[in-house]
Parts: sequence; C-alpha cells; structure tokens
Amino acid sequence: MITVKTKAEIARMRDAGRIAAIARATAGEYIKEGVTTRYIDSKIRSVIRSHGAHPSFLGYGGFPASACISVNEEVIHGIPSDRELRNGDIVKIDVGAYYKGYHGDCACTYVVGDTSSEAKQLIDVTKESFFKGIELAVPGNRIGDISNAIEQYVTPFGYTMVRDFVGHGIGTNLHEDPEVPNFGRAGRGPRLCEGMTIAVEPMVNMGTWQVKTLSNNWTVVTLDGKLSSHYENTIAITENGPVILTDEN
Ligand code: MG
Repeated sequence: MITVKTKAEIARMRDAGRIAAIARATAGEYIKEGVTTRYIDSKIRSVIRSHGAHPSFLGYGGFPASACISVNEEVIHGIPSDRELRNGDIVKIDVGAYYKGYHGDCACTYVVGDTSSEAKQLIDVTKESFFKGIELAVPGNRIGDISNAIEQYVTPFGYTMVRDFVGHGIGTNLHEDPEVPNFGRAGRGPRLCEGMTIAVEPMVNMGTWQVKTLSNNWTVVTLDGKLSSHYENTIAITENGPVILTDEN
C-alpha cells in the first residue's frame, strides 16, 4: 500500500532527511587513507544522535551498525569493520536517520585520495542518473518513467543497473511501497501523486549487473568483482515537482 503524506508530514520527513544528509556529509569528511570503516560509522552514529535522532539501519533486520559502508566491488550493505581505506578506493556511504516518527535515507559514493578516471566517471554518471530520474518524479507520471530515465542515461556508458535491489517508498517505515527500480519501461508501474515520498537510489555496476551476497548474509558484491557506485536521496513528489528531503540545508 502506498501512503501519501500531508505537507506537515513531509516537513517532518525533511527534518529526518536533513539529519541523514548531514551524517552523509560528515562521513565524507572523514574518508581518507588509513581510516577504518568502523571509525567512520562511529562518526555517523555520533552525528545522528547529536541531533536527537536514531540511526535507521542500526538493528534493522539485525544490521549491526549505524551505516552501510561498501567499498569498491561491494554494492550495498557493507558492514563497518576494521578494514582500512586505501588510496583509490571508492566508498559508498548509505545512511538513514529516524526522527520524530519518520525516516530519511540517502547515500553517496566517495573517493579515497585519488582514483582512476574510469572510477570517477562511474561515480559521476551514477549521481547524474539520479537527477535524470527525478526530473520525471512529478504528479501524473509513473514509477516506470523514473526507472526508465535512469537506465536510459546510464546504459550508453556501457554500465549496468543492479536489478536485485531497488529504491523504495519511505516514511514512518524505512521501506514502504512502491518499489522504485533503476531499470524498466516508461509508462508502467504505480502512478505518482502529490505527497508520495520515495528513496530513489541508482546502483550502477561497471561490469555485469549480477550480484551476490557474501556469507555474512549482508554485504552485496558484484559477481565479477568490478566496481559499483551508489547514489540516493529521499524525495517528495509535490505540485511544484520533486523536492529532495535529504538536504543538509
Ligand atoms: Mg534506500
């Protein structure tokens, strides 16, 4: 069931989203060579709690940390650990904040030091595909219009869209209907209406679209070991077009 939010509810989601976005940005400041992903996770947790919020992912389905931190071929759901970041790594920070009954969910891919031009392009294309997708997130369009715009932007670069994991509705629950795939046909899927809030999150692979889950039952990696990039914001669909709720400002 798709829940539609009032303007007052969306204002509260913007508060949750702001905290998630601040945590994402803070993580970016700490990403450098030699730092462990566990240390970055601790900074994320501190920032979220300092705003009176709770890390959405902590304990969700048993997840043991405050953020998902996924490195290189890890697509999503990386578990923070004693792994030290190395120059050239690309690091996906996915963070949610729960505040006054609502969730905000966002992700970004950061670079440690300097990396290859190929990796930089993958990251840039992934982020840009999010914006291409949400251009179509207006009342009257369908979910498939967003999905198709993302896929159509990405695939000419030779990249592939992860198919096993998708974006989602969000609100009082971290994951709500509808699903928001990063691939598919325009004109299909649920119709968008004012007050819907969704997390749009392209996950883009440099090689095969296929992924597998590691034996820790969380971390999803590319099947071919090639790089993957992720970018996400929570948005509201309004009469004035899409509004990004996971905005620091
Ligand atoms: Mg999400």
